[in-house]
Amino acid sequence: MRRFQCPVCTTEVHFGNSHCGHCGAGLGYLPRHDQMQALPLGGGSPTPCANREVIGCNWLCDSGGDGGGDGDGNGGASLCLSCRHTMKIPNTADTERQNQWARLERAKRRLFYSLLKFNLPLSDSPDGTAGSLQFELLGDETRPDGAQKRVMTGHDNGRITINIDEADDVTRERNRAALGEPYRTLIGHFRHEVAHYYWDKLIAGTDRLAACRACFGDEQQDYAQSLAAHYANGPAPDWPQSFVSAYASAHPWEDFAETWAHYFHMVGGLETAQAYGLDPKSLTEPAAQASQASQTPLAWLPNPYHATDCDELIARWVPLTIAMNAMNRSMGNRDYYPFVLTPAIARKLRFIHDLIAGS
Ligand SMILES: [Zn+2]
Ligand SMILES: [Zn+2]
Ligand SMILES: [Zn+2]
Repeated sequence: MRRFQCPVCTTEVHFGNSHCGHCGAGLGYLPRHDQMQALPLGGGSPTPCANREVIGCNWLCDSGGDGGGDGDGNGGASLCLSCRHTMKIPNTADTERQNQWARLERAKRRLFYSLLKFNLPLSDSPDGTAGSLQFELLGDETRPDGAQKRVMTGHDNGRITINIDEADDVTRERNRAALGEPYRTLIGHFRHEVAHYYWDKLIAGTDRLAACRACFGDEQQDYAQSLAAHYANGPAPDWPQSFVSAYASAHPWEDFAETWAHYFHMVGGLETAQAYGLDPKSLTEPAAQASQASQTPLAWLPNPYHATDCDELIARWVPLTIAMNAMNRSMGNRDYYPFVLTPAIARKLRFIHDLIAGS
C-alpha cells in the first residue's frame, strides 16, 4: 500500500480514512486514479459511495473500464467499484451483522486496490454484466424450524461467498486454532478466494493449463475426495518443502489459491515497506547510497506491482519478513509472516507472477 496525504493540509492520511485527523477535511479515495480527494467535490465530480454513511466506505464512484460505470440500481444511489461487486449482504437491521459487513468491505477494498494495481480483469464483458467478479457476504441463519443454515466460504462459478462470521475476531481465532493455521485474516480470505475466480478466467480452457498443471499438479483429481482426505488424515509430513501452507497440499486448486494469495501478500507488503523506507535488502545494495539524499526513500526501486523479476521480489521479501517477524516478537505478537518460502514454492510464485503480468 502506498502512502497518502490530505489534499487540504498535506498531513499523512491512511487508505481507510474518511476524514483527515489533522484538519478534519472529508476524504474520498478515487480507485481508478489512485487518488485521495477532499470532500465536498464540485458539480460533475465523482460522488461518494452510497455505502459511506452505512458502513464507512470512503471510496468515490468513478466511471470504470470494468463495466458497470457508476451506480447499479441501488435505489438510484451510486456504489463504488468495490461495493458494486457485492451482490448479497446480511440483514443490516442487525447492528452486529452491519459491523461485520463493514469489516469485510474494508478488507475487500484492499483486495480491489491490488486487483487494480495488477490491472486484472474484473469482468468479461464491457458493460460488466457477464462473468463479473461477484461476492456474497452472508451469515449462518437459524431457520424458523430451528435448523441451522450454514454458509460455506468458497468460490462457485464466479461467485465468492464469505461467511460473515469470520469478521468476528473471536470466531475467526477459534477457527484458526481449530484448524491449526498460523495465519487467518479477512484479507487472506479475499486474496485466496479471488484466486479461484482468476483460475477460471486465466487458466481454464486456455493454453496456460498445461503449464499450470506442471506447476501445481492435475486439478482433475476429485476435489471433494481430496479435501475430505486432507481433513481426515492431515497433510503429508514433508508438505513444507513443496507447499506454502498445509491447506495448499489438499488439492492443486487450493495450492494455486494459496500461492496466489501469498503473491498478493508479498507484493502488497513490499509496496508498503518501500513506501515507508523499510527494505533490509536494499540497504546492502550500491544504489541505496545514491538514494540516501533523496526525500523519498527507496524511490529508485521499481514498484513491486510492476516488477518484472519475481526472484528479485522474493529476494527483497524474505529479509523483510525476517525483520518483521523479529519486530512482532519484540512486542510479544505472533509472527508477521509465519511461512517459509522454499525453492519449490518460489517456482510456483514465479508462475503466478508471470500469469498476472501476462494477463
Ligand atoms: Zn488535512
Ligand atoms: Zn463503497
Ligand atoms: Zn480455496
